[in-house]
Amino acid sequence: MASHSMPNGRGYGETKSPTAALARQSSIRKSSAGDLGSSTLPSLGTAGRLVDYEALIRHFDCPVCHDWVTPPIVQCRKGHIVCGPCKSKGLKACPVCKQRFSDVTNWMMEQVSLVIAFPCKFQGNGCRIYSELIHKTAHEALCSFRPVSCQYGIRGCTQILLYHLMEKHVLECRFKPPNLHSQLSSSSHGSSNN
Ligand SMILES: [Zn+2]
Ligand SMILES: [Zn+2]
Ligand SMILES: [Zn+2]
Ligand SMILES: [Zn+2]
Repeated sequence: MASHSMPNGRGYGETKSPTAALARQSSIRKSSAGDLGSSTLPSLGTAGRLVDYEALIRHFDCPVCHDWVTPPIVQCRKGHIVCGPCKSKGLKACPVCKQRFSDVTNWMMEQVSLVIAFPCKFQGNGCRIYSELIHKTAHEALCSFRPVSCQYGIRGCTQILLYHLMEKHVLECRFKPPNLHSQLSSSSHGSSNN
């Protein structure tokens, strides 16, 4: 799904906080209300913001897999986009208008996708992090809201929980080897009992 090749080495070295885009947006909103000084950006639109983020990001919804469309971004002859991997799975025509696909990718959408922050794919589980594409995969690999299997699965535990809940579960998992528990507690007490 998210295995698209990432463009790199084109000067995206700056490390922005994952929520940079949203922070920028909300600071713009604030500065239009009061005078927080430093921003010289104009406030536009009825909502007093430069970008309607929710509307913008909706344009990156792949009509096939409903993941975010990220480079390579394939387009039909009318300009509807799907993600490269979806088209490679044998898609013959645009799912929206049934026209054939163009031979060239949508350069403009690819460029825009590189400068906006996308929600974590575990947003539905409660994650509030937004990351630019170059950071997104790394975040999701470690996201506290990703589902993980219990580490005692090989001993029979079938629990699958969000990572931040699993931390607690493994401590009280009934498949946890009892000797492991006594080893841990004896070492944590630092006592030598024989
Ligand atoms: Zn897709
Ligand atoms: Zn189309
Ligand atoms: Zn996340
Ligand atoms: Zn378990």
